[in-house]
Amino acid sequence: MTQRKVAVVTGSNKGIGFGIVRGLCKKFDGDVYLTARDETRGQEAVASLEKEGLKPKFHQLNIDDLASIQRLRDFLKSTYGGLDVLVNNAAIAYKAAATEPFSEQAEVSCRVNVFGVINTCNELFPLLRPHARVVHVSSFVAKMVTDKNATVKKIFGDSKLTQEGLIDLVNDFVKCAKAGNHEAKGYANTAYGMTKVAVSALTGIQQQQFNKDPREDIIVNSADPGYVNTDMSSGKGKKTIDQGAIEPLACALLPANVGAPKGETITSGTKVLP
Ligand code: NDP
Repeated sequence: MTQRKVAVVTGSNKGIGFGIVRGLCKKFDGDVYLTARDETRGQEAVASLEKEGLKPKFHQLNIDDLASIQRLRDFLKSTYGGLDVLVNNAAIAYKAAATEPFSEQAEVSCRVNVFGVINTCNELFPLLRPHARVVHVSSFVAKMVTDKNATVKKIFGDSKLTQEGLIDLVNDFVKCAKAGNHEAKGYANTAYGMTKVAVSALTGIQQQQFNKDPREDIIVNSADPGYVNTDMSSGKGKKTIDQGAIEPLACALLPANVGAPKGETITSGTKVLP
């Protein structure tokens, strides 16, 4: 088993995740895993970074497939005996012109963007070593939703909310979306936005758990990359993927025993460290 440190970035064959891998290859003292649900797309992305002189490693990971997450977990355990950085970047967003009914968009978005992230955390968190850093790539859309919607802000911002309670809320949102009464019940009319609100809430809940964890100094934050030129934004974002990677990278590389940020959602453009 190697003594090297190890970092994993989900959904990193393209877009902001690819930029985060590029940055970690330059700045992280250890092995960096570019992961992708599609092996070919992943290997092509690795080859493209190798042309830049970087040396990412590859492992398949579909966060919507528990067996795939568990294969990565077993690989990390047997090869590294732990995990030092986890960046939950992978997500999906339906386009505004998507024809799938809202009920389907809500169900699939929550399955990937919330339950995929929770399953990844549940499987990989036991591997985290002291001083590990976890980053959820969030979105400014979450703040837009909570700024507009007092009910969502209140129920997802409840300081007593547990992970189980959060899961119940997300399941209830999907149930209401299927019944067509999600807005009447106080939820926002955006599947993607609701998933990012949930991920921000998850961040605070997880940090409370880490604060009680016998492993010292494990930190989780959410980072909003801003509006980035990727397939998800249909190329409309103004930032490059490397610019979008700045805040997630800063959270992933927080120095040991730093006091803050911990369990926070970092807005794009804000300084991560004082
Ligand atoms: P892209 O669509 O460009 O990339 C998304 C990545 O996630 C792809 O590698 C995709 O793989 C992967 N992915 C999707 N589903 C899964 C899955 N089930 N398992 C593993 N990987 C998966 O998006 P962005 O780079 O723009 O987005 C990255 C993150 O940034 C997301 O969390 C997004 O919500 C967030 N964000 C983006 C903004 C923007 O302006 N672009 C703004 C705010 C937040 P594949 O190639 O196989 O589809």
